[in-house]
Amino acid sequence: MVSSGAVCPPSPKNETVADFLPQSEERRALCAALKRHRESPAIDCIPVVIGGQASKGERVVAVRSPQEKARVLGHCAQASRRELRTAIDQAVAVQRTWTEMAFADRAAIFLKAADLLAGKYRYDVAALTMLGQGKTCHQAEIDAVCELVDFLRFNVYFASKIQKIQPLHSSPGIWNYSEMRGLEGFVFAVAPFNFTAISANLAAAPALMGCSVVWKPAPTAVLASYLCFEVFREAGLPDGVIQFVPGDPSVIGGIAINDPNLAGLHFTGSTRTFELLWSQIGANIGKYKNYPRIVGETGGKDFIFAHSSADPKQLIAGLIRGAFEYQGQKCSAASRAYISSSLWAACKDEFLATVAAIKMGDPNDFSNFVGAVIDERSFNKVCSYIDHAKGSSAARILCGGERDDSVGYFIRPTVIEALDPNYQSMREEIFGPVLSVYIYDDAKEEAAIALCESTSPYALTGAIYARDRHVIARLSSVLRYAAGNLYINDKPTGAVVGQQPFGGSRKSGTNDKAGCELNLLRWVSMRSFKETLSPVVDYSYPYMN
Ligand code: NAD
Repeated sequence: MVSSGAVCPPSPKNETVADFLPQSEERRALCAALKRHRESPAIDCIPVVIGGQASKGERVVAVRSPQEKARVLGHCAQASRRELRTAIDQAVAVQRTWTEMAFADRAAIFLKAADLLAGKYRYDVAALTMLGQGKTCHQAEIDAVCELVDFLRFNVYFASKIQKIQPLHSSPGIWNYSEMRGLEGFVFAVAPFNFTAISANLAAAPALMGCSVVWKPAPTAVLASYLCFEVFREAGLPDGVIQFVPGDPSVIGGIAINDPNLAGLHFTGSTRTFELLWSQIGANIGKYKNYPRIVGETGGKDFIFAHSSADPKQLIAGLIRGAFEYQGQKCSAASRAYISSSLWAACKDEFLATVAAIKMGDPNDFSNFVGAVIDERSFNKVCSYIDHAKGSSAARILCGGERDDSVGYFIRPTVIEALDPNYQSMREEIFGPVLSVYIYDDAKEEAAIALCESTSPYALTGAIYARDRHVIARLSSVLRYAAGNLYINDKPTGAVVGQQPFGGSRKSGTNDKAGCELNLLRWVSMRSFKETLSPVVDYSYPYMN
């Protein structure tokens, strides 16, 4: 059966972000969910799920909270090699039936999942993201609830447009038409820790398009990802369309990437891991049945360029929210800023005093703005950058730098002034609450713009703060390839599905823009039909007479 595209899904609207004001119903409900999941986890062991069958894997590991590292929030099974092979076989086996299901039936499952996440499971998915990944209530709401619900609803809308793509023309006596097939084989979805929405969407987007998926969540984000997986099943996702396989990344990656049925890699994570997986795919290219589609959204070294005409107060707010929300652990976080010396003189004291006053602590206390970084490895990495700056003549710490890992992995919001614009913290992704600033001489603006354009290998997001329209136009032109998402007088984080399609190029990824038709197009393989209504009966052509 050809999947029918002749359906009009509901017009998507962005999910409203709750404010969690004191005494509000939503705050009471979230606090109750936090207490429930923190004190008595609903599930003792998150399983490996293959073809609908749950197992405890070859071993289990504890799942801990970054802000309370002694607290075990649950356990998680680790898939064995044998299980991973079974997962791939199951995925391949169901793929054809799944892609032959009418598009409307597939789409309805994900629309229902969106409703479940926006309603019945809203506070659970937010609470698990706060506890497991260390987000504040606002960060969990905009990620695990709103962005995820938006991904699911907007993807159905965009996918329905893709289903309707048909040839422009049929000559007399001929009917041309096309069909969008899900990719033959399986898609390997590999997720980062930092966004519940991204993790679930990495699996859901190819599945919606008719692919079957082997989904490897990040070890530090399994709680919320598993709830999303269960929501997909409750919404009617047939067994085997998505296999949930937490476990050792190199073991799982090694087997999945080596399998001849690998049809695609849907990845979000660090540039290093993506390059490793791509090189493994390249080395295996001769053995695949199909050339795998490779989609990867990776690291960032996102900039703010602040011109002398910018408003100092707007800049301070943008720097602080852009750099320190979710402890700087957003791929889009502002991590280097080029600030004009005259503007810096007008905002430096207030900026540093405000950063020094940021309240840090457990997000269970809603008054905290910054929480703990995700784990010990990240804590050590971020601290090593701060310590390097302390000992370097090319940089100095303007505020922050203190850390405490006795209870959780806490690092104070830190501002480094780079005296050398090529200092390492201006170039490399740190992925923590560290902002590096380079103060440029107003008379050397062109040189500063050139530095912004070329200092880092990444090109994910960036922001321009300026009131002078000529300057905005010039910067936007020079920085054309320096960011896939460019913000003007706004922080470089917080892209909204359906409003600012998200992704970057250079070392930031393939820029396939999650939550938009460009991404969904990667998960279909078009089949074109030509049906001749009055077939010829004579092989010869008239010119031969
Ligand atoms: P990571 O690269 O450490 O891990 C990402 C995923 O890859 C995890 O599931 C991990 O277990 C898995 N992995 C690691 N080695 C593997 C291997 N050999 N085979 C198979 N899988 C393997 O990244 P992270 O720390 O989870 O996430 C942070 C990174 O993600 C940052 O660099 C950030 O910029 C990036 N990120 C980018 C975007 C974007 O849209 N561009 C969004 C979110 C995060």
